[in-house]
Amino acid sequence: MHMTSSQKIVLIPGDGIGPEITVAVQRVLQAAGADIDWVPCKAGVAALEDGGEVLPEATVDAIGQHKVALKGPCMTPVGEGFSSVNVRLRKEFNLYAAVRPVRNLTGVDTRYQDVDLIIVRENTEGLYSGVENEITPGVVMSMKVATETGCERIARWAFRYATQRQRKKITVFHKANIMKLTDGLFLRAAATSHQRDYPNIEYETAIIDAGCMRLVQDPTQFDILLLENLYGDVVSDLCAGLVGGLGVVPGANFGDDGAIFEAVHGSAPDIAGKNVANPLALLMSAVMMLNYLADRDDAEVNRTTAERIRQAYDAALIDGCKTRDLGGDLDTDEFAQAIIDRL
Ligand code: NAD
Repeated sequence: MHMTSSQKIVLIPGDGIGPEITVAVQRVLQAAGADIDWVPCKAGVAALEDGGEVLPEATVDAIGQHKVALKGPCMTPVGEGFSSVNVRLRKEFNLYAAVRPVRNLTGVDTRYQDVDLIIVRENTEGLYSGVENEITPGVVMSMKVATETGCERIARWAFRYATQRQRKKITVFHKANIMKLTDGLFLRAAATSHQRDYPNIEYETAIIDAGCMRLVQDPTQFDILLLENLYGDVVSDLCAGLVGGLGVVPGANFGDDGAIFEAVHGSAPDIAGKNVANPLALLMSAVMMLNYLADRDDAEVNRTTAERIRQAYDAALIDGCKTRDLGGDLDTDEFAQAIIDRL
């Protein structure tokens, strides 16, 4: 029997390292006293192998009902086969704003210090329309879609988020010099939102190639990066590399009526099933989820739990407890235990 007050959260372990890191994250959340009633659901290759679809109706229904999910990575074959579960979920639930906080963690040595930026990625349009055609044999094309509605809502979302989080500056990376219509629209929507509603937030633009150079020269000059879908995808991994890799960058996909929390990284087939993956990025995503629940339901206990978990993983890292990707020698379970020991 569960207490009626527990929060029902859909849990999608996903593929590859997904199940291992999901179990580790569940252990930490339980030890921290998070009052969550998990609703386990399948998606990805795991669902296929179970004899179903990659994105089963039951999973879609559960997310529709409970509004919030914690999700492990789902594999998408390159070149052929089924379409991406991740893209379909984001479209299905209109999770148009992907947020990835990129920060240096004490105890994780990297080339850069004091990196603290947030990537806001448009999650539903651009080249992820999935509309590709063969014009004639040997000539194929991919359609990049930008809508006024889509560009305006992500711009508004980013400026509102910057205001709520007391952030100072938004930088848009674009290629409007080449893609004058699509990136031009994206850029115009951001400029309009800034001028009309948020003049207090500093606003700048950079052509994405030059922006990437500035990122690796000195990432501390950026605060919030606002990007369309593909640029946001690529720059997220680049930024992960600035602060220690994919093992330390969490993520959230927000819509107006729900959210799916997931790490930036994929299913890491090269290390799957070996109990060596870093569960931290998914754990940090779960911390974002607890803070979201705290805001949504005015349930401060979630914020307290989130803060306890954050302090515990910080302490673990400072004590040198790390997985292999961060230069340590702990396996997935041992690292989770090191965090639990410090709660
Ligand atoms: P990946 O992120 O899975 O792996 C890239 C590299 O980082 C690998 O060397 C991997 O071992 C390492 N890595 C990633 N996460 C790690 C972790 N938690 N701990 C330690 N090391 C980690 O990227 P990929 O190999 O290009 O993609 C594999 C699959 O994942 C593909 O099918 C792709 O479509 C899918 N993918 C899914 C999502 C998602 O579900 N949101 C995101 C990205 C990629």
